Amino acid sequence: MSETAPDCIFCKIVAGEVPADVLGRNDHAVSIKDLNPQAPFHALVISADHHDNAAASAAADPASVGHLVSLADEVAKASGNDDYRLIANTGAGAGQTVFHTHLHVLGGSSRMTETLV
Ligand code: AMP
Ligand code: ZN
Repeated sequence: MSETAPDCIFCKIVAGEVPADVLGRNDHAVSIKDLNPQAPFHALVISADHHDNAAASAAADPASVGHLVSLADEVAKASGNDDYRLIANTGAGAGQTVFHTHLHVLGGSSRMTETLV
């Protein structure tokens, strides 16, 4: 069963109601290019079902987050980025602006070697 939220931009992208540059998909997620890239390669992996964040998706279905990571790995490698960084902003205080589960997949930047953690 698919869960959606009205007026959610990522639900609309998953449904094909808002155009996006699609890089790949599986049964659980869609990957698109980020509209405002922060690295030479910047994809989003958006969950098919609407949950506010990755933790909420994991609580609803632990395997769902694994499917997001698998698609992230696929699109990164398909674009030649064997090394990449995954980010899941969780909460406005961490910079989250779209409250529908998504991973940022970043690659190709010299800034990738800076360590945040
Ligand atoms: P976050 O700040 O972690 O919630 O990330 C939301 C991301 O979605 C930002 O990097 C935006 O640039 C991106 N974004 C928002 N709307 C769109 C859209 N219609 N197509 C592609 N990326 C988008
Ligand atoms: Zn949504």
